[in-house]
Amino acid sequence: MTSLHDLLFSDLENILVADGLRPIHAQSLWRAIHRQSASNLADHPTFLPPLARWVKSELLPGNRFFLEAPLTITDTASSDGFTRKLLLQLADGQTVETVLMAYVGRSTACVSTQVGCAMGCVFCATGQMGFKRHLRSAEIVAQVLKVEHILRSQNSTSLRNLVLMGMGEPLHNYDAVLKALEILTDHRGIGLTPSRITISTVGVVPGILRLAEDPHPYNLAVSLHSADPQERANLVPASRRWPLPDLINACQTYATRTKRRIFFEWTLIAGVNDSPKHAEAVATLLSGLPAHVNLIPLNPTNGFTGSATATPAAREFQRVLHQAKLPSTIRQRRGIDVAAGCGQLRTLHEKIPLPQSKASASPNLLSNPPLPSR
Ligand code: SAH
Ligand code: SF4
Repeated sequence: MTSLHDLLFSDLENILVADGLRPIHAQSLWRAIHRQSASNLADHPTFLPPLARWVKSELLPGNRFFLEAPLTITDTASSDGFTRKLLLQLADGQTVETVLMAYVGRSTACVSTQVGCAMGCVFCATGQMGFKRHLRSAEIVAQVLKVEHILRSQNSTSLRNLVLMGMGEPLHNYDAVLKALEILTDHRGIGLTPSRITISTVGVVPGILRLAEDPHPYNLAVSLHSADPQERANLVPASRRWPLPDLINACQTYATRTKRRIFFEWTLIAGVNDSPKHAEAVATLLSGLPAHVNLIPLNPTNGFTGSATATPAAREFQRVLHQAKLPSTIRQRRGIDVAAGCGQLRTLHEKIPLPQSKASASPNLLSNPPLPSR
C-alpha cells in the first residue's frame, strides 16, 4: 500500500491518467490532500464522479492507497502560549514530536525526520533513545499538514517557516526528506517557500555535499557544539565518522556553490563548551565562512548530567563572537515547560502507557489551549 501523501504531484497525475482519469482529477485530489488536509476523501464535495469512484475503490482498506493520518497523542502548550508541542502516533504505533511556534506573522513548524536517531549526541533525548526507523516522506509531510490545520482552525495566517530540527538526523534520511520538501514546496499544495526551510544536521558530510548540488535554496544549519575535534567527539560521536576538518571543508563547498550563509548551532553546556576560549576557537574555525551562530542553552535531559549555561556567561560568549565579527543569536529555551527539547516529550511519554483506543487525548498531558491571537 502506498500513502497518497508520499506522492509528488507528477506521480499522482501519472497514476490517475494510467487509470483512465484526467489531469484535472489529479489537481482536485492533490488540493484536497494538501490544501484542505482532508482526512476523509469519500464523498468529497469537489470531486467529479470518475474521481469519486476511483477514491472509493482505491482507498478501501487493504487496497492500493491510503491516507496518512497520524493521531494526536498529546497536544501541549507552553506557559507563554506561543509554543505548542504535539506527540503524534504513526500507523505502526511509533511516536514522533512536532512543534508549532506561533509568533505573530511568523509561525514556524519544527518536524521530525526519524523515529529516534543513530547519531548518539550525549545531551540529546532523541540520541539517548537510539535509532528506531526512518520516517517516510508522507510522515514528514503529514506533520506539516497537521500544524497548518491547527493554524487554520485558529484563523491564523499560513505556516511561514519550516525547520527540520525535531527528532532524527535529516541527512541520514536524505531521499525521503528531500522528497517531502519537494511535496511541501509545490505551489499547487501547501506551497512553502524553499528559502524559509532550514535543514539541521549534526554534520553528515556526504549529505551536505549532496545538498550543495540541490537546486532548491534550502537553508543549512550545522550543529557544531565544539571547535575542538576531541571535545566535539565526546559530545557528538558522529564526528568520529565525519571529522571536523572534513565537515568544515564540506561547509565551504556548500557556501561556495550556493552563496548561502550557514547557521551553526551551539548548545551551551555549563563548564563544557561555554568559556570565552571556546568562543575564540569557534570564531577562528568559522573565520572563512559566511556563518551565523545560534547559541542555545542546554535543555536538561535525564540521560546527561550537564546543565545550561547561565545568561551572563552566554552573553560573554556572544560578546567574544561579536568582537571577532561573527554574528550570533542567543536562542531562548522556549517551551521548556512542555518538554520542548528534541525527543524529550516522547521519552516522557514512554513512561506512560499509550491509550489502546484511537484516542486523540493523552492520560495526563493534554491541554488544547488556543494560540495567542494574531
Ligand atoms: N539531528 C539534527 C536535527 C535535530 S536536533 C541536528 O543534530 O542538527 C536539533 C537541534 O537540537 C540540534 O542543534 C541539537 O544539537 C539540539 N539539541 C538536541 N538536544 C538538545 C538539548 N538537550 N538542549 C539543547 N539543544 C539540543
Ligand atoms: Fe540526532 Fe540531532 Fe539528537 Fe544528535 S542532536 S542525537 S543528531 S537528533
